[in-house]
Amino acid sequence: VFELEERYVSLLGEARELAAEVAPFADRADEADRFDPDVRKALVASGLTSVVVPAAFGGRFEKVDSLAVTVIREGLCAESAHLDGMFAMQGIGSFGLVTAGSPSMQERWLPKVASLDAVAALGLTEPEVGSDLRALTTRIESVDGGVRVHGHKSFITNAGDADFYLILGKEALADGGDGYTLVLVPTDTPGVYVDHPHQIIAPHVLGDVVLDNVIVPTDHRIGEPGKGFKIVLATLATFRVSVAGAAVGLAESALHEAVRHAAERELFGTTLDRLGGVPAALASSWVEIEMARALTYRAAAAAAVDPLASLSLSSMAKVGATEMAGRVVDRAVQVMGRFGLVRGSKIERLYREARPMRIYEGSSEVIYDSLAKALVKSVTA
Ligand SMILES: Cc1cc2nc3c(=O)[nH]c(=O)nc-3n(C[C@H](O)[C@H](O)[C@H](O)COP(=O)(O)OP(=O)(O)OC[C@H]3O[C@@H](n4cnc5c(N)ncnc54)[C@H](O)[C@@H]3O)c2cc1C
Repeated sequence: VFELEERYVSLLGEARELAAEVAPFADRADEADRFDPDVRKALVASGLTSVVVPAAFGGRFEKVDSLAVTVIREGLCAESAHLDGMFAMQGIGSFGLVTAGSPSMQERWLPKVASLDAVAALGLTEPEVGSDLRALTTRIESVDGGVRVHGHKSFITNAGDADFYLILGKEALADGGDGYTLVLVPTDTPGVYVDHPHQIIAPHVLGDVVLDNVIVPTDHRIGEPGKGFKIVLATLATFRVSVAGAAVGLAESALHEAVRHAAERELFGTTLDRLGGVPAALASSWVEIEMARALTYRAAAAAAVDPLASLSLSSMAKVGATEMAGRVVDRAVQVMGRFGLVRGSKIERLYREARPMRIYEGSSEVIYDSLAKALVKSVTA
């Protein structure tokens, strides 16, 4: 399949329309560390968050479709990382509930996630634990009348604005070993505290979540004890490729900024787009964007059919497109000279926003490591 089907083209169009609506206040929203009310209002009105929840719970499509999420993120991230993050986290923060939540939790939360009446979040990272998730220290245990969750999660997107967190912790299993379990913790549960100790170079709705002996009812368990990683993997398999879509949208936006500038700026008796290495910088960026887009759509289309079977392809798209966005946005700034460095300009914002993409949802090194393992296995098997 080399062209997007009509329904995806139309979703991309919807996303671009919403992005254009948000564009006048995107610079303000992208500096915010809490939900921007106008972005939220526009996203609600667009109805696009219904794409990240299955139809049975108020969603737009029968099941969550990775290609749909990916093209929407392409459209949104071209204008605003804040808007893109708000959209994407509704899916990433609720997919565990979709795949393995109890019926009571699904009915209580998913329709509200679809309409953005409830904000979702996923808590994996801890102050001392990132890529090496098996080292996490949050404890989960059954107690009389419920489940106790005790620990500290860090760098959690939507912390402070979320209505619930899916928390991954360690639990002693019946067989005597330790396993990893996912539990839904509503924000208003006693013992949940949110703090904002860090902000990053591209401001983000981000915070730490402390869970101080929090007790939730048993139906708040997501799946069986010890099955947490499997559920997190299903989430990654469905959503990782959508980061590639966001990176393609961001890179294209940066290239267009540079092209507009270079075509207008006159020096040495011509325009900048004809000078020295500038044509090659612009054209090679265009080539890289189109290559990344082709792999991204292919991987997302495969993930829409069978997310787990296509995880390597999704990982390739994620690492390929986010590394590409880093190069493209850097070249764009270089082409624009001092104008590319001005605080508050769109290109400066895109430059900062491209950077975290290579670290979250599987850092480039961690993805290369797992791809290399898969490659060696496939060639030597
Ligand atoms: C904007 C943003 C939003 C985030 N949102 C969330 C969220 O909602 N929920 C959540 O749980 N977490 C979230 N995170 C955290 C994110 O998942 C972690 O930053 C990520 O897992 C990497 O962990 P780390 O930062 O601790 O880096 P580390 O694990 O300390 O890694 C440091 C460096 O070492 C490299 N490295 C690590 N292991 C290996 C290896 N085996 N081989 C080679 N190199 C390696 C990494 O690639 C990286 O370059 C967010 C982070 C950011 C920046």
